[in-house]
Amino acid sequence: MIRVVKSADIPPSLLVDICNSYDGQDVQKALVDDQHQKCYLCEQKTTKSFQIEHLKAKATGYFPGLKYTWSNLFLSCPYCNGRKPNDFTILDPTSNNIEDIISHRLNLTSKSATFESIKNDDLQDNTISLLDKIFNGKNQLRDIKGEILYKDLEREIVFFLGLLNDYKALPSQENKQKIIDSLLITKEFLAFKYWIIKDNPSLYNDFSSYMVWNKVVLVE
Ligand SMILES: [Zn+2]
Repeated sequence: MIRVVKSADIPPSLLVDICNSYDGQDVQKALVDDQHQKCYLCEQKTTKSFQIEHLKAKATGYFPGLKYTWSNLFLSCPYCNGRKPNDFTILDPTSNNIEDIISHRLNLTSKSATFESIKNDDLQDNTISLLDKIFNGKNQLRDIKGEILYKDLEREIVFFLGLLNDYKALPSQENKQKIIDSLLITKEFLAFKYWIIKDNPSLYNDFSSYMVWNKVVLVE
C-alpha cells in the first residue's frame, strides 16, 4: 500500500443535487486513471471486475453520509474489498505516506508477509491487520484467492530480487534501467519493493529517487 493521489476535480455524477450513485462511469474512469488501475490495498492490477470501495464504511451505523463523497471512494479489487470489515477505519492513503509509515516485507522462507508501523495507534493497527489478512489470510490461513494473490506477489518479488542481483553483480546502465522500469508507478506491489531497497543503503542511494511516486516529501 502506498500513498494515493486523486484528481482534484470531483466527477460530475457525484455533484448532482440528489446523488444516488457512487460508481458512475465518470467515477470509475477517474479512479482507474488516478490509481493506475491498481487496487489501493493490495497494489495488484485490477481487471474489469474492480469495485468502488469506501474508505470509511457506507453502511448504516458507520459513515452513510460519506457514501457519495469523492474523497471516500477508492478503486479496489473484489478480494480486498470483501476482506475489509465495516468497523475497520484505516489510514487514509491520500493524506499519509503509507509506504513510510508501514513496512512491507516478504519472507520467502516462511511464505508470509510482515507489516510493522513506526508507531502504534488504532489507524495504523487496523491498516496492518487488514494487510495481514489480505496477504497472509485469516488467522494465517489463506483461502484459494489469498493463495493466488500471495503467489503473484512472490513471483513479482522473486523477479525483482533477480534484477537487483544482476545489478549488484554488474551495475550497468542496462541493468539499472530494468530496476527503474520495475519501480514505475504503474507496476504492482511497490511497497514491498520499496522496503527491499530501503533495507539496503547502497541500493537506496541508487534508487530512492525512483520511488517518490505520490509521496509528499517533508523538507526539514
Ligand atoms: Zn486488492
